[in-house]
Parts: sequence; structure tokens; C-alpha cells
Amino acid sequence: MEPQQQEQQQQPKPQLSPQQPLCPFCHFPLTQSYYFCPNCGKKINEPPITTLKEIGVYLLSIFLPPLGLWPGIRYLFSKNQRTRRAGIIAIILTILSTVITIWLTMIFFNQISQSLTGQMNVDPYKNLVP
Ligand SMILES: [Zn+2]
Repeated sequence: MEPQQQEQQQQPKPQLSPQQPLCPFCHFPLTQSYYFCPNCGKKINEPPITTLKEIGVYLLSIFLPPLGLWPGIRYLFSKNQRTRRAGIIAIILTILSTVITIWLTMIFFNQISQSLTGQMNVDPYKNLVP
């Protein structure tokens, strides 16, 4: 049995940003892809929201509008860009869902009131015109 030598996968990304973020604990230069400092191991960025959670929040926002707002706002204050984006989408979906629900309810009540006033308008004329 030969011992398998695993080569360390290095990702050469020459990203030269004007303001390279530094670890707030040991001032080690970081890239945006790091969630933990490779030097001191402290947590720097929150790991992104999982796809399953993301879909769950969207569904919650669409079908149960007020409930989707809370995780949406919470995600909005996340340090992670993808989580923040999910929060924004969740809030937009909540607002859209609420507006559509109100809109459909108004159409529904308009139709009821129209049919009621329609009946009320018809009845007097029936009595006046023989
Ligand atoms: Zn560090």
C-alpha cells in the first residue's frame, strides 16, 4: 500500500483590491472568501445562508407574509453578502405578497359591493317602470 500524497489545493486568485481587509485580531491580510482567519482561526465573516434555508425563507415570505419579514430583517444585518441579499429578497417578496393579498381582497370586496349596489339599483326601477 502506497501512502497517497495529497497535494494542497491552492487557489491562485490575484485579487488586488485597494483596501485589502485585515483580520481584526491579528491583522493578517484576508480575501473576501475567508470566513475564518487562516492565521489565528478567529471567525471573521459569517458563513453564507444555506440554499435550503434561503428557499424556506422565500416560501415563508410568499405564503405567510408577516412571518417571512422577521428572518428577512435579521439576514439584512448579516455580515455575509449572500445572506444579506437573501434578506433583501425575502423582504421584497413579503411586501409583494402583502400588496397582492390586499389587492385581491379589495377586488373581492369591490365585486361584492358592486353586485350589492347593482341589485339595489335594479329593484327601484323595477317598481317604477311597469
Ligand atoms: Zn487573525
